[in-house]
Amino acid sequence: MIQTVFDILSIRKDFPILNRKVNGYPLVYLDNAATSQTPQKVIDTIVDYYSNYNANIHRGVHTLSQEATDVYEQARQKIQKHFNAAKSQEIIFTSGTTHGINLVANGFTTLLEKGDEIIVSALEHHSNIVPWQMLCERTGAVLKVIPMNLEGKLVMEEYHKLLSNRTKLVFCNHVSNALGTINPIEKIITAAHNVGAAVLIDGAQAAPHIKADVQKLDVDFYVVSAHKMCGPTGVGMLYGKEEWLNKLPPYQGGGEMIAEVSFEKTTYADLPHKFEAGTPNICGGIAFGAALDYMNAIGFDAIAQYEHELLQYATQELLAIDGLRIYGDTKEKTAVISFNIEGLHPYDIGSILDKLGVAVRTGHHCAQPIMDFYKIPGTVRASFSFYNTKEEVDILVSSVRRAKTMLS
Ligand SMILES: *Cc1c(COP(=O)(O)O)cnc(C)c1O
Repeated sequence: MIQTVFDILSIRKDFPILNRKVNGYPLVYLDNAATSQTPQKVIDTIVDYYSNYNANIHRGVHTLSQEATDVYEQARQKIQKHFNAAKSQEIIFTSGTTHGINLVANGFTTLLEKGDEIIVSALEHHSNIVPWQMLCERTGAVLKVIPMNLEGKLVMEEYHKLLSNRTKLVFCNHVSNALGTINPIEKIITAAHNVGAAVLIDGAQAAPHIKADVQKLDVDFYVVSAHKMCGPTGVGMLYGKEEWLNKLPPYQGGGEMIAEVSFEKTTYADLPHKFEAGTPNICGGIAFGAALDYMNAIGFDAIAQYEHELLQYATQELLAIDGLRIYGDTKEKTAVISFNIEGLHPYDIGSILDKLGVAVRTGHHCAQPIMDFYKIPGTVRASFSFYNTKEEVDILVSSVRRAKTMLS
């Protein structure tokens, strides 16, 4: 049961951008899988930082620097608590999901040998494909792909066939950004561990909807971006089990990540600083913490339930349009609808929707292999957040109908 009543009108008041007009129409923002909007509390946190205690962290003896350091480290603890990591040093601040994945992929360069195998899923975002291809080029490891089916789900029997004692790493997203499919990551992690492989889960698309418990999942690495969960761009986190983070070499060299430096030899700082070279996005990290506070105050159960209702309603209404096809129709999905209308190009539909104030994404959604699988150039993707409404679904549907009439 939901403890709090979901008060959508008061929630919408928290987001100043939702008041604006686009091309003369009220904004209907349905591109949440690309980036989410920012609540006033997070905006206030950013203004407060630059107005009152902007300073570099960990360096100065002065008051501002200590204040900034304290609040930044408190944000790390909020993130630790949110994802239930055992230790705060297992939380590495990154610039986002892409950075987190590259940090791990780079670290495995020294741990892999020719002939080792890496498994990725067919449902990946490009940022979870290309770094592994680069790692394979550096090491001679081989990339294997878990295939998908028409429902937009991974074929788990094929995954089990791919696993062997040559498998060293498995990479999969928690939720597909292109289709919204929620992948069975518990099963994926357990099976990988049974052959001794490490697992990295890309949580970028799951984190705004599902609260992941990294200890319960027993996952080795989990990465997210703050900007998809009400935080600012340019900041994210990498969770890594301490034993893994100790095994991996640093990603970048620089200030903050060292213990001692001389021209003969440099020793590295302890976790998490070993992976945090240079001045980080201090304000961004602090605002990430504020975004988690904001979302947790609403509650992830309430968010999931409300978004599911929006998804069901939107799916039903869109499917009533002649010639409209939705890609990925599994029951286990977040509120993402990727669709096309027979004979129309997704870009043309998206352009007309924009003229009517409706923001959707069109194209391959950084997931070209999925588009190749369905033999389409791309889709129109409407992705919902907890601040969207049923009325906005109605506007989407009537705008799609209008686009269809205009284009055919
Ligand atoms: C958005 C996204 C990424 C990339 O996140 P960045 O913030 O651009 O680094 C990776 N994977 C998935 C599933 C995503 O949705």
